[in-house]
Amino acid sequence: MGNDCIFCKIINKVIPSKIIYEDNDVAAFHDINPQAPVHIMVVPKKHITTINSVSESDAALIGKIFLVIKKLALENKIADDGYRVVANCNKNAGQEVFHIHFHLIGGRKLTWPPG
Ligand code: AMP
Ligand code: ZN
Repeated sequence: MGNDCIFCKIINKVIPSKIIYEDNDVAAFHDINPQAPVHIMVVPKKHITTINSVSESDAALIGKIFLVIKKLALENKIADDGYRVVANCNKNAGQEVFHIHFHLIGGRKLTWPPG
């Protein structure tokens, strides 16, 4: 667990959140500040600060995250219309929480390119 990491605290249920999926390796919960009708954070339970710190041994974990994303997209009925998966890395992308996470965003038409 990362010291003072808000997502580790959510994963370890030290602070409350709306956890909608979890298994041994992955958790998902609603974003506290949703940008669309569906806005879910999908995170590894392992504390990894940025994508730059993902290692070879995390390859299966990252793959598993995308299986969870697919499942949640289907359950939330956004799979056919479409959705976006966003992972921000460091300051130019506006990363705020330094525990890697994948935003699953959908339920409305999304603009492209991002700002
Ligand atoms: P990023 O800019 O990619 O680091 O995004 C961090 C995301 O975490 C933002 O969309 C926040 O709204 C979300 N967030 C921050 N704190 C919480 C929390 N306690 N529960 C759920 N989502 C959170
Ligand atoms: Zn963490």
